[in-house]
Amino acid sequence: MSDFTNMATSRRAFIGLGMAGMAAALAGSPAQAAKVATKARIVIIGAGAAGTAIANRLVDRLDGAEITLVDGRKQHLYQPGLSLVAAGLKPADYVTSQTADWLPAGVSLVAERAAAIDPEAKTVSTEGGQTLAYDYLIVAPGLVLDYDAIEGFSLDMVGQNGIGSLYAGADYAAKTWEAAQKFTEEGGVGLVMRPETEMKCAGAPLKHTFLIDDIASRGVGSGKYEMHYAAPQGALFGVPIVAEKVRMLFEERGIETHMQHTLKSVDPGQKRATFEKKTGDAVSTVELPYDYLHVIPPQRAPDVIRESGLSWGDKWVDQGWVECDPQTMRHLRYPEIFALGDVAGVPKGKTAASVKFQVPVVEDHLVAAIEGKEGTATYDGYTSCPLITRVGRAMLIEFDYKNNLVPSFPGVIAPMEELWISWLMKEVALKATYNAMLRGKA
Ligand SMILES: Cc1cc2nc3c(=O)[nH]c(=O)nc-3n(C[C@H](O)[C@H](O)[C@H](O)COP(=O)(O)OP(=O)(O)OC[C@H]3O[C@@H](n4cnc5c(N)ncnc54)[C@H](O)[C@@H]3O)c2cc1C
Repeated sequence: MSDFTNMATSRRAFIGLGMAGMAAALAGSPAQAAKVATKARIVIIGAGAAGTAIANRLVDRLDGAEITLVDGRKQHLYQPGLSLVAAGLKPADYVTSQTADWLPAGVSLVAERAAAIDPEAKTVSTEGGQTLAYDYLIVAPGLVLDYDAIEGFSLDMVGQNGIGSLYAGADYAAKTWEAAQKFTEEGGVGLVMRPETEMKCAGAPLKHTFLIDDIASRGVGSGKYEMHYAAPQGALFGVPIVAEKVRMLFEERGIETHMQHTLKSVDPGQKRATFEKKTGDAVSTVELPYDYLHVIPPQRAPDVIRESGLSWGDKWVDQGWVECDPQTMRHLRYPEIFALGDVAGVPKGKTAASVKFQVPVVEDHLVAAIEGKEGTATYDGYTSCPLITRVGRAMLIEFDYKNNLVPSFPGVIAPMEELWISWLMKEVALKATYNAMLRGKA
């Protein structure tokens, strides 16, 4: 095995695995210990990246368990591909597949949404009226996009009058490109914003800004368009060294920033976006004109979590993320409940790459609990964002809870450099790695 392959198959190499270790990963799981015999009833809410991956892994680890996956959505969405669809680089069907195709034998799919959780009675009720009793519950319903929080905005506007919103799904990402493409050909003012809340893939609004700027620079050309970026935060990214790098790149490319700006309303007729601007304790209202506006709404835990008493009481109270131990993902008040993926109330980790490292931790603690033991695995906050800066260039940013950069390929791929290899990882390798993760193989 080359040094490169050794590194790629190391603990951290989520994206790198796609480049160097994918064949090995897909060939099958490494030799595993004997399955644990159990009659445990395990309910998983959500068949997205996290729910599907953990279901596949538990089937491999347990013999006789009753594993039930609850999700009303038939389609699986490969969300990291949405940024490519919204830049005209991939078709809409690049990001969609059928949920059922990812599920192993041994998992029952209840094709309904979970409506309520009773953590005292240990039951989940579905919207269709079923009641599912559990011994262990894994909550992985992702998050909801709160478009209603933006006055004047509705999803049927996407694709028209210069409005985009790639987060809303495959077709909306394709419609976003229709609006963005017009801007890259005709010019004017492009305005991309991010919300005040926690969000999945916080790099995505930056990627969209960079990509549309890059395409416009080669389309309508410089002098004919302006690119603006508005954010409620004081910095462009949560990791200071990355924030500074992005700031420098924005400055080099003439992308204007509007920090401490929170989008409140949109007037699509007038093509004006209204922001609340904070300056110290003072709050004012600022209107920005646009020809192309990309909207990413506030993001929150789904109602089923927020109404079930599983959320933090003293943190993210407007957002409702699950109260769990950041190292073990285990609920702090209900030890038989684990949180996985975007819904988890942990300080980083709303990426598919994070899911890859959370899943084995939950698997370890859950299987240990079934065996009457204590699990030992921990999650360190690993989060990864292939930050696209141009078509064909990206920076492979990986970090942990402490804001340490934790590159998968130290000395080989510099995280803060705009590289073609990092672009390839996003454009080519990430999907293969993601798919292997869904199957429980990566
Ligand atoms: C534009 C964009 C770009 C991204 N880029 C990257 C990237 O480059 N790299 C990366 O690693 N990550 C990226 N991500 C983030 C990544 O896609 C998510 O972090 C990941 O999908 C989270 O997995 P999850 O299982 O928690 O949620 P999801 O994959 O969203 O799945 C949640 C599932 O729960 C279901 N559900 C919801 N409510 C209920 C309910 N009440 N009952 C039952 N089921 C329910 C949903 O139908 C869904 O199937 C990106 C995301 C976006 C939007």
